[in-house]
Amino acid sequence: MKIAFYDTKPYDKVWFDKLAQEFNTEIRYFDFKLNAETACLSKDFDAVCIFVNDNADKETLEILYKNGVKLLALRCAGYNNVDFKTAYEKIHVVRVPEYSPAAVAEHAAALLLTLNRKTHRAYSRTRDNNFSINGFIGIDLAGKTAGVIGTGKIGRVFAGICKGFGMKVLAFDPYPVEGLDVEYVGLDELLRASDVISLHCPLTPETKHIINRENLKKMKSHAIIVNTSRGALIDTAALIEALKNQQIGGAGLDVYEEESEYFFEDLSDTIIKDDELSRLLTFPNVLLTSHQAFFTEEAMREIALTTMENVKAFEENLPLANEICYKCGDKCKKENQKEKTGRCF
Ligand code: NAD
Repeated sequence: MKIAFYDTKPYDKVWFDKLAQEFNTEIRYFDFKLNAETACLSKDFDAVCIFVNDNADKETLEILYKNGVKLLALRCAGYNNVDFKTAYEKIHVVRVPEYSPAAVAEHAAALLLTLNRKTHRAYSRTRDNNFSINGFIGIDLAGKTAGVIGTGKIGRVFAGICKGFGMKVLAFDPYPVEGLDVEYVGLDELLRASDVISLHCPLTPETKHIINRENLKKMKSHAIIVNTSRGALIDTAALIEALKNQQIGGAGLDVYEEESEYFFEDLSDTIIKDDELSRLLTFPNVLLTSHQAFFTEEAMREIALTTMENVKAFEENLPLANEICYKCGDKCKKENQKEKTGRCF
């Protein structure tokens, strides 16, 4: 199999090169993102491998299909950047549904602990021989309430971490997990009762801006919101307004609505044109990381391995356990397609 690998970073090569020979694949690395302009370079490749900020929209997928690409291998779990209706019956789409839920949940906890106890600011202060602790007061998390939105693989681990801190955990998920040691409540109750709110649901039309102006108003004035899921779960303009009005306590963000132009790049010598991003970075109670929650050795190893296994299964005409299409879920089950052939089409 020949794979065109878009949006490559040096650390991707480290993990994928280790496996390329073993899996008998030829990988051509491109350091730019996939989009309608760069899709032309997929000619003569069997598969295209992309990450979270590549754009597999209708126009791009049509070019890939015309170029003979048969497989789109996402080296991530989220798939909101793929137009599945266009891909259906043309290009199989596979992903890495689970690599290290602990990596993301632990990063969410890191954002929470840092924001609460201001260790990011203390680090800079003490480096400057400033040993004052003015302004660094936090709260005990023990005895407080965490609200987890989305109790899938990552949300469940985060809930467990909060339990470890001695917190009460409320959760909201349209598909509650039986036997999970959390109290499921409605979204409104979670927003009103939580001292910490962490987002772990996927980005879908239903969850876009789940944290909007109205919902921000329901939160406690000291509530810390953590988002390691997808940027567009939060309406950024509304968040900025809430932070300015001191309606909430702070925000730990690993993702941002308009991150694709900025995240993962060193732009230290450029002027940031996105005023909302710049404004967010001015708040002392906002901690922004650049979509790095997944970034552990264990997760990178697993991402590379599962991606290569997905490609191999496709090549060998085997069932594609990690394939997804727009009919997956209820519709797919009704038609029984995947159970019959192991593939979505
Ligand atoms: P998952 O599919 O295991 O869990 C998602 C959960 O969200 C499910 O339980 C689902 O029922 C629930 N959900 C769906 N709609 C909802 C709604 N309207 N309200 C509340 N809950 C809802 O996914 P996961 O592996 O736990 O990953 C969660 C998200 O984390 C992914 O969608 C991805 O966007 C993000 N992620 C981010 C990083 C990172 O590096 N920052 C890495 C991996 C995943």
